Amino acid sequence: MTVPFNTLPPLPGIDDVPPHVGAVLTVDLDAICDNYRLLLGQGGAAACAAVVKADAYGLGAERVAQALAAAGCRHFFVAHIEEGIALRRHLPAHDIFVLHGAPAGAEQAMAAHRLTPVLNSLEQISAWTALARLSGAALPAVIQVDTGMSRLGLAPEELAILAHDPHRLDGIELRYVMSHLACAEDQANPANARQLELFRAARRMLPPAPASFANSSGIFLGADYHFDLLRPGAALYGIAPVVGAPNPLRPVLRLQGKVLQTRTIPPGTPVGYSGRFVASSACRIATVSVGYADGFLRSLGNKALAAFDGVALPVVGAVSMDTITIDASALPEGRLTAGAWVDLIGGSAESPDAIAARAGSIAYEILTSLGARYHRRHVGGRSDAVSTL
Ligand SMILES: *Cc1c(COP(=O)(O)O)cnc(C)c1O
Repeated sequence: MTVPFNTLPPLPGIDDVPPHVGAVLTVDLDAICDNYRLLLGQGGAAACAAVVKADAYGLGAERVAQALAAAGCRHFFVAHIEEGIALRRHLPAHDIFVLHGAPAGAEQAMAAHRLTPVLNSLEQISAWTALARLSGAALPAVIQVDTGMSRLGLAPEELAILAHDPHRLDGIELRYVMSHLACAEDQANPANARQLELFRAARRMLPPAPASFANSSGIFLGADYHFDLLRPGAALYGIAPVVGAPNPLRPVLRLQGKVLQTRTIPPGTPVGYSGRFVASSACRIATVSVGYADGFLRSLGNKALAAFDGVALPVVGAVSMDTITIDASALPEGRLTAGAWVDLIGGSAESPDAIAARAGSIAYEILTSLGARYHRRHVGGRSDAVSTL
């Protein structure tokens, strides 16, 4: 059946989910594509890639990348070569860049799958040029320079060696020179401008090539940071790009857990492991089928808020491996029963950013921890797509 695009509700109900399912993760591909268009619009003339490493931050790289490709995205970044090989099957014709570059010995595989490595050291550069010589054809690559993270990319000494001997790049089709910002979500941090200066200087030392610098937060630092190719991940998935500013992006995911059991407990009754919550008055407790094994962080015990019917329901007691317990006393008696679905992330519950703040983490970790046991549904993305995997 084809459902016309504009009649799809943003996150359709879950009546079609089989009865054995304990938790449902819904990913709104239309929201991801809208976020893509917003970021592209921020970037002026720059093109916009999509970073889909770590299974698109836990949301499903295959479906996310296909939806973004349909929305016009031409460039995709993954971290590991394995992720690139898997993605290549679904995106036969798009640029796929591998942030970690080719591990020694994996250069042939990189080329065989037409993946473009981000070369982070002189060693990676010489291995890639050696393969180009062997195959008698230029091979595409990105060169990353380290401008202040001390993580990946050419160190200043390596850059100087390369600038002195540009023939080290013979056989390489230099697609982009790139670097990565360390503090971009904090717009007042002077490290941003310092990295920008170092990046400009590095470009002057290398053969002319397009440049890529800004991650999600970097896009919001302004036009000086955009260069030729934006490289957002988090913002595509609805994570706030600027600390302390309103989030302009659409929420993308909704996690719902099923109520397994409810009970009323008298005052003084402990709840959960180690009795970390003790009811001070009579409480209605609902046990929900999601736990830390599903990425609902243990640090959220006694801290997170679930929601039902728009009413916030505190998570009480410790988070168990497979369950959490919530205090449903704010709802009318009998309103929340076994089999009901409560929102845990998104929907009428809190955003990943807000939940991360409670857990002392960042939304990136909330997303990439999303569990393997969830029933995952991708909605939107194409005119006919409400698909359940
Ligand atoms: C992960 C990553 C990105 C995307 O960063 P976000 O903050 O998620 O937008 C961009 N570039 C590099 C090098 C990365 O490692």
